[in-house]
Amino acid sequence: MKRKLQDQVAIITGASSGIGAGCAKEMAKEGANVIVNYPVAQAREMAEKVVEEIVANGGRAMAYKCDVSNEEEVKEMFAGVINEFGTVDILINNAGLQKDAPFTEMTLDQWNYVLNVNLTGQFLCAREAVKEFLRRGVNGKSKSAGKIICMSSVHEVIPWAGHANYAASKGGVMLMMKTIAQEFAPRKIRINSIAPGAIATPINHDAWDTQAHLQELLKLIPQKRVGQVEDIGKAAVWLASDDADYVNGTTLFVDGGMTLYPGFEDNG
Ligand code: NAD
Repeated sequence: MKRKLQDQVAIITGASSGIGAGCAKEMAKEGANVIVNYPVAQAREMAEKVVEEIVANGGRAMAYKCDVSNEEEVKEMFAGVINEFGTVDILINNAGLQKDAPFTEMTLDQWNYVLNVNLTGQFLCAREAVKEFLRRGVNGKSKSAGKIICMSSVHEVIPWAGHANYAASKGGVMLMMKTIAQEFAPRKIRINSIAPGAIATPINHDAWDTQAHLQELLKLIPQKRVGQVEDIGKAAVWLASDDADYVNGTTLFVDGGMTLYPGFEDNG
């Protein structure tokens, strides 16, 4: 049986850990050639481990260093991948980080750092991906000329005190995603977001590392379990595949019900 992403080239940013690594592994299982992006030399070993695991399971993968907030590095990554694999079919715009601070203490550096990676990084990568999709058009591997999945967050709709930079970046991702989906849908390019709830990864380790923290976190999740990276990886496979061919410009919330106002669970 033909796998859902057979021979498609997928760049996954920030894929040396967490959700990005989970997406890389699930997409490789469905036949994609996966580019495991990582930002700095210190993350190389982790990225290579993700690649080794994929290859050991019969998949195809390559690690690629690039800081998504650096325009020249992003251009070089896309040029390098196109040179090596011929094209890019899928971009998972996943790289992201937090620099939390109470609003009145948030420095401009903290604000810019988060916006530069979480929003500008997604813009830079999406722009290079769309250029390649337009150049190539539909190539027989998929009904689309290309697919982009932006890793957003439930905080594209849930305000988050103490995290103004992060919430602003994800709100920005939402309207960038919808705007470019509208612009390029006529060219058979599909652009969507996934909004994870609480997924157990290094970014939110403090929220689930002890029983007390975990119990607090579970109050926010109607389904009463913390998500795993596979939950997001499987959603990304579906959204990138032709099974989702009529899905464009939408956010898929994968959050165990976190956006269902859990404070009202017990009659408010
Ligand atoms: P993570 O810290 O494991 O992963 C983030 C990855 O981004 C890391 O691999 C890091 O090296 C990479 N990265 C950071 N700056 C980069 C840069 N400049 N260029 C390239 N890569 C860079 O955390 P995660 O939870 O896997 O986060 C992945 C994405 O999911 C983020 O966009 C995050 O906002 C989003 N998200 C996570 C959760 C969650 O509960 N874990 C919830 C909602 C949204």
